[in-house]
Formats: sequence, C-alpha cells, structure tokens
Amino acid sequence: MSENQYKKRLVVLGGGESGVGAAILAKDKGMDVFLSDFGTIAPKYLATLEKEDIPHEHGQHTMERILAADEVVKSPGIPDTAPVIKALREKNIPIISEIEFAGRYTDAKMVCITGSNGKTTTTSLIYHILRRAGVDAGLAGNIGNSLALQVARDPHPVYVIELSSFQLDNMYSFKANIAVLLNITPDHLDRYDYKMQNYINAKFRILQNLTPRDAFIYWQDDPVVSAQLRQIATEARIFPFAEHQEENTAAYIDAEDNLIINTPAGSLSMPRADLALHGLHNIYNSMAAGLSACLLNIRRDDIRSALSDFAGVEHRLEPVATINGVEWINDSKATNVNSTWYALEAMKRPVVLILGGKDKGNDYSEILPLVREKVKAIVAMGKDNAKITAYFGENTTLPVIDTHSLADAVEACRGLASDGDTVLLSPCCASFDLFKSYEDRGEQFKEMVKQLK
Ligand code: ADP
Repeated sequence: MSENQYKKRLVVLGGGESGVGAAILAKDKGMDVFLSDFGTIAPKYLATLEKEDIPHEHGQHTMERILAADEVVKSPGIPDTAPVIKALREKNIPIISEIEFAGRYTDAKMVCITGSNGKTTTTSLIYHILRRAGVDAGLAGNIGNSLALQVARDPHPVYVIELSSFQLDNMYSFKANIAVLLNITPDHLDRYDYKMQNYINAKFRILQNLTPRDAFIYWQDDPVVSAQLRQIATEARIFPFAEHQEENTAAYIDAEDNLIINTPAGSLSMPRADLALHGLHNIYNSMAAGLSACLLNIRRDDIRSALSDFAGVEHRLEPVATINGVEWINDSKATNVNSTWYALEAMKRPVVLILGGKDKGNDYSEILPLVREKVKAIVAMGKDNAKITAYFGENTTLPVIDTHSLADAVEACRGLASDGDTVLLSPCCASFDLFKSYEDRGEQFKEMVKQLK
C-alpha cells in the first residue's frame, strides 16, 4: 500500500457521548475506526453507530484489534489502571482525549472551564451570555453534544467547553483561548494515586500551550491555585477574580455592592442584587463568566441582561416549591463537602439539611461552623448513615434523624420544618447507594416534594 492510501487506525474506547462523537469525526476524516466498550453501550449510541456504519463492540475488548491502533481516543471515564490502558501503554500507543482529538480539526475559539466545583454552572452561564448576544456558540465537554460531533457535523466559531480533570489528563497539544480555573479542592483522588498534587497538575493542564494572546481567568483567593501559580509560569494574560479587590483583581464586588469587571477588551459594572444566581459561589461563577464574555467583546448590555436572567442549572440550588411557607431546594449535585459549604453559605433562612449517600472520604468539619450557624436539623439519608449521625451527634446539639429512603427523609423534613424554613437537599455525598445518579436523586426528590402540595 502506498503511503497516501494508508488509513490511520483509530480505536475509540468508550461508547458514550464523547466516544461516539470521536468515532464519527474520525470516520468523516477517512480513518479506519473501531469503537470498543467493555461495558454496555446505551441503545441511543448503538443506533448511531449502526446508522453511521462504524465497527464496534461492547461487553468486551478485542485486544488484538485494539493493540493494532495507531492512536486511541479514550473516554474520560476509563481509569489509567484499566488493563486495556496498561496494555496500550506497554506498547507505547498514544492515548488522547476526545477534546484533544476534536481540537485538531477546528480553528474555533475555545473557552474552557475547569475546577473542582462550579464548572457546569459557569460553562452554561457563558454559553447563555454568548447565545443571548447572538453569537453562534457550541456547548461541549461534560455537557451538551460532544465537541467531536459538533466539529464534524455542526461546527461553530466559538465553543464553550466544560473540562473535567479526566479530560485534561489526556490533552497535550490542545489550546484554549480563554482558560478558566474556578477552584481546586480535593476530589476524585482515587484516580490520582491519592496524591493531591497529581490532581492539581491535571487541572493545571488547562494552562498548557497558552500564548500571550490568550487569557487565564482564575479565583485569586484559592490557596491551592495560588500556591501552584508560584511554581509554574504562564505566558497568558491573567485575569484573577476575588470577592474584594486586591492587586491585579480583574473582577470583584466594590464597596457599593456592585460587580465590577475590568479587562482591556471591555469593562462592566452592575449591582450584585441584579445577578440571577445567588450565593458567594455563584458570584464567583458570574465573575468568571463576565470576564470571559468581556474578553470575547460581547456588548456590556448583553452581558448584564444575561447575568440577570440566567435560569440556573438543574440540581444546583434549584428552587423546587414553597409549601406552607417552607422552601424546598434541590442541590443534589453537591456530591462533595465543599459544594455543600457553598450551598449553606447561600442560605438565608433556618435550614433542615438532607445529607448522606456514598461518602468519598468526607471531612465534615469543613461545614461544621455553617451547620452550627444555619441548620436546625439534619436528616441523614443513605444506606449507611453511621458516620454522619456520629459526627453531627457528637459535634452539635441538633436533632439528627436517620433515614434510609427518600420517602422517609422527605417525611422527616416535613415534620421538622416550619413556616420560614428551608429544606435543603445538599448531600455532600455521591448518590450511588440509593439512586442511579445525582440527577436521579434530584428528580425523585422534586417529584416527591411536588406531591406534598
Ligand atoms: P461541577 O460541574 O464542577 O460539578 P456545578 O456547576 O455542577 O459544578 O455545581 C456543583 C455544586 O458545586 C453546586 O451545587 C454548588 O453547591 C457548588 N458550586 C458551584 N459553583 C461553585 C464555586 N464556584 N465554588 C464552590 N462551589 C461551587
């Protein structure tokens, strides 16, 4: 076979949104593609693979075919410890992420958002601002359609991309134009040899390849980010945000309670009270989004209106209903202690707090001061609540109720909350003990609350 007839052999591991998108893009680019998923591929994606005539398998890995790859696109869900990844590494076969792969085939502007908490909210908010301003933007990464699929079939001049550390792990040449790093707190350490530094390094990959024309937006008061920035340099222009103005702060709240955003490309001031999203964490998210939009030359009026009419994202401090003066809030996405901290910080009324689920090694002392200040009762909801009931039983004088189903938890909350209180589902824990996912947990919660009406 002569060289120009050689078809690159691309193997895609994982048949979810990113894998199927990558396979379609690869096929469109004339590659010899094979998709393999060790688990089951959802019917929706199987149908797409059939329709697109892409060779695939699931429930197994045919190693012979996988090890014949020139390059592999790996789903972010597959850990490095998986035997298939070890075998590929032994043969030095390059492994990249779907975002890295798709990035090769587009010159679009890339706004990339990472952090331990707030990624989806900030990504959705930036996308909302751009769409409202009439920009033809695509939403990609952990949300929306995969970047690869959009690059192949529905290209946009700008993409707003939510990047998890797992996606960043396998990114090498990809370059953001605007990189946003919201915060770093311990998460997913099981995938990083239980070494925080490995996780930090993964997050900081968002800075790789940035040039002086690119922008780096980050939370100035994050101790982990600041410490790391003392170790590594970036050529990008930097735009830190913080609650109060410090040296170089590009976005902050001023003494009159206005949100101030300052960039060479544009500046903005608006009352904090006009922001659609409440709570300190969401002010940070609004700052990061506002900075990104200013740097993209979006008109001030469009940014202001979009920051004040954003509807929020499901399962993130989502108001469900007010029943007999009790406000019910679904924050099911709070799967770690830090996000519950921010949820509590945002609460203005006495809280009945639903905690519990699959504990990933939580240290509840982080939320103890806020619990003491704002919470009137705790309802533990999980298969095994021993850690929560013991911790809050020993460290507070609050009633701590032990429940093992959503129905019992909601019932307990109904008994504990009175007019003027808030019931907050912000569990600090993953959902897999009693639910399929945090979405499932949030949906069931909302359903049950609505039935109380
Ligand atoms: P991610 O996509 O990073 O998981 P989300 O936007 O889905 O983040 O928010 C998850 C939870 O994290 C929210 O329910 C909220 O309580 C908390 N959160 C949101 N933004 C921030 C932030 N900037 N800093 C800390 N916590 C946040």
